[in-house]
Amino acid sequence: MSSTQNQQKIAIIGAGILGLLTAYRLKDENIQLDLYDQGGFPAPCASYVAGGMLAPYSEIEHMQPEWVQASLDAIQYWQEFAKNSKTDLDFAQNGSIMIAHAPDRYILERFKDHISHAAPQAGQNVNIKDYEPMLKERFHDGLFLHQEAHINPRHVMDEIISTLQEHEHIQLFKKAHTPSELSDKYDHIIDCRGMNAQNDLANLRSVKGELAIVRNPEFQLSRPVRLMHPRYPLYIVPRKDNIFMIGATQIESDGQGVSLKSTMELLSALYSLHPSFGEAEIIEIKDGLRPSLPDNLPQIFVEDNIIRLNGSFRHGYLLAPIMAGAAIDFIMMRDNAHINILTKGEIHENHTQRQSLKLRGAA
Ligand SMILES: Cc1cc2nc3c(=O)[nH]c(=O)nc-3n(C[C@H](O)[C@H](O)[C@H](O)COP(=O)(O)OP(=O)(O)OC[C@H]3O[C@@H](n4cnc5c(N)ncnc54)[C@H](O)[C@@H]3O)c2cc1C
Repeated sequence: MSSTQNQQKIAIIGAGILGLLTAYRLKDENIQLDLYDQGGFPAPCASYVAGGMLAPYSEIEHMQPEWVQASLDAIQYWQEFAKNSKTDLDFAQNGSIMIAHAPDRYILERFKDHISHAAPQAGQNVNIKDYEPMLKERFHDGLFLHQEAHINPRHVMDEIISTLQEHEHIQLFKKAHTPSELSDKYDHIIDCRGMNAQNDLANLRSVKGELAIVRNPEFQLSRPVRLMHPRYPLYIVPRKDNIFMIGATQIESDGQGVSLKSTMELLSALYSLHPSFGEAEIIEIKDGLRPSLPDNLPQIFVEDNIIRLNGSFRHGYLLAPIMAGAAIDFIMMRDNAHINILTKGEIHENHTQRQSLKLRGAA
């Protein structure tokens, strides 16, 4: 794309999934884009350790219907994205299954009761032997959520980074910045710093998640399985080559590092699925900090030429497509169906009359 004097100059700070996908969706606009990340490309961030579950129904207890609809739109986006991608992103929409051991069965029953009212068509009780035969020794039935999907986050990040590097009008810098440092130099600054935006978003808190990745040549799954657990909703995501990710703990903490207790809980949950996990090879055990707002839902904040995308909590991959799309439509002064929920009503669908908004939750 050739440069013209009228091109807008945009900076994105932070190349987690929100910054990366926003940059990716800006690649075909007539703009100059600089993307900064202090950790490089890919950066070791929450987005790098995520499970990649695209699971709005499993999370329905925390979401109003408009968020579920937005999530389904986002899954469709990922499906197209994976279809057009140069590499295999392990995207699959085979649904997911919720199961529980006998002592935790009450959690599954409570969930079934909730979803039967909130989204009656979304879940179906099934025999495990028909869906995940390797689990049939220890589990008889489960709840099948047929619209859920999953994708491999690291492959997505690599794919986006390599695509951005092919575009002349996009530059990537391994460098730290604050939005206010850059606000005179660019038409728009998109702040995607995750937990590092805490100085500008007083309500932002971190929720730590720990995960383990193992290889088990003796075991197979066709789809993610959610094991109901009294302390965290645990899920096992199958990857290629008999690799499985189990995640994730959910701890109100900004301390980093994986505890022995969490490691034992994650690994014994895996072992409780199938005895072959006793011989599995541990590939990695990691943690990340989920940027979270008080309602555990993401939000877009606007203040003059700074647009902040943050608070995606457990839903960064699930909701990044709609957040990136809404931020770009806002900049380009186009209507957007999701802008209203993402700005908590501060900006409406038809926002051609843009106004500077006072930043909610500002420090
Ligand atoms: C264990 C775990 C499992 C998860 N599983 C899922 C899942 O299955 N599905 C799902 O949808 N979500 C999941 N999530 C949530 C998801 O990972 C987060 O919601 C999402 O990654 C947040 O993305 P982000 O881009 O806002 O922040 P981040 O990924 O944290 O990225 C922020 C980036 O900003 C950079 N940065 C910070 N400050 C500066 C600065 N001053 N200058 C330059 N760069 C800066 C950082 O280096 C970092 O790269 C999971 C999270 C965890 C921790």
